Amino acid sequence: MRAAVLREPRRPVEILEVELAPPRAREVLVKIAAGGVCASDLHVVDGTLPEPMPLVLGHEAAGVVVETGPGVTRVREGDHVVLAIVPSCGECAPCRRARPTFCAVFGAAAGAGTLGDGTSRLSLDGTILYHFNSVSSFAEYAVVPESAAVAIPRDVPLEAAALIGCAVLTGYGAVANIARVEAGASVAVWGCGGVGLSAIQGARLAGADPIVAVDVSPEKLELALSLGATALVNAAEVDAVEAVRAEAGGAGVDYAFEALGREGTIQQAWSSLASGGTAVVIGTMPKGDLLTIDPWGFIQEKNLLGCFLGRPRIEADVPRLVELYRAGELKLDEVVSHRLALGELELGLERLRAGTAARQVILFDP
Ligand SMILES: [Zn+2]
Ligand SMILES: [Zn+2]
Repeated sequence: MRAAVLREPRRPVEILEVELAPPRAREVLVKIAAGGVCASDLHVVDGTLPEPMPLVLGHEAAGVVVETGPGVTRVREGDHVVLAIVPSCGECAPCRRARPTFCAVFGAAAGAGTLGDGTSRLSLDGTILYHFNSVSSFAEYAVVPESAAVAIPRDVPLEAAALIGCAVLTGYGAVANIARVEAGASVAVWGCGGVGLSAIQGARLAGADPIVAVDVSPEKLELALSLGATALVNAAEVDAVEAVRAEAGGAGVDYAFEALGREGTIQQAWSSLASGGTAVVIGTMPKGDLLTIDPWGFIQEKNLLGCFLGRPRIEADVPRLVELYRAGELKLDEVVSHRLALGELELGLERLRAGTAARQVILFDP
């Protein structure tokens, strides 16, 4: 099958013919229909997110189950599924504490670039290829743990469903699961890509007001407006902190979400908070970089929170998000700014670097 292989950071992604072994116990083979191009893929390519290499990229996808390994109970052949990077064993200490996103078994596997049994199903001319966070979906097929696949109704377009696996779980979950934004709260979101736009939609669904979108792209700000933002701040033209605080009546916002992973915008989010406010850092700063913020905020009871994929319970949250989409309350089709073939992945990564795309989706042959 064809797959997007990265041999080492800062090298071009190669579309190669690779081998994929059949699913083992509690694994499934999925024919990929659509996969979103996420900043985390770009971070791996650019070397700021270290991963075992060579690997097959891609981690936000939807497709159809075509084969199940022994012992699979959650999904069956023919099921349409959303893939997510957080399979869980259900038995380790974090799983038992209801924190499946920190599953010890699959956390270790993700770090090692393998599936749950410590081995890879992917190879190239006899040489091991590593899995990217158990998913590796920039490929015609993927073998994933059954707990990384959530079945969805067959009438949901797989292109839209793909976005749920990372961007929507993350942005929506940052608002609903991590910050727990309440109706009437003021919100600002830095970065209007797939994740930031999902945070904006989460804030709209929570009844937040105002919802201030911050970006430097007029096109993405317009999109944010159509998805629920009530005020726009173009950080290339005005002082973002002053503008955000002004939109919230001068005192600052109750919640600030940073979806870019840059020190400067995290500092802006922190400085835009009202006393008692909460900033959630969703974006990923390069591993090893340090962050400086003004500690005076702590005596104002400001909170600084981390976020890993929006802390989902995917078997409950994916179906809930699909229902919101079917009800017209969660917009997904509008978030897709570009559709690509697998061979155009480099172009997609370049657009992501330039900040000129909301969410790009790679479509595979049906
Ligand atoms: Zn992602
Ligand atoms: Zn576990």
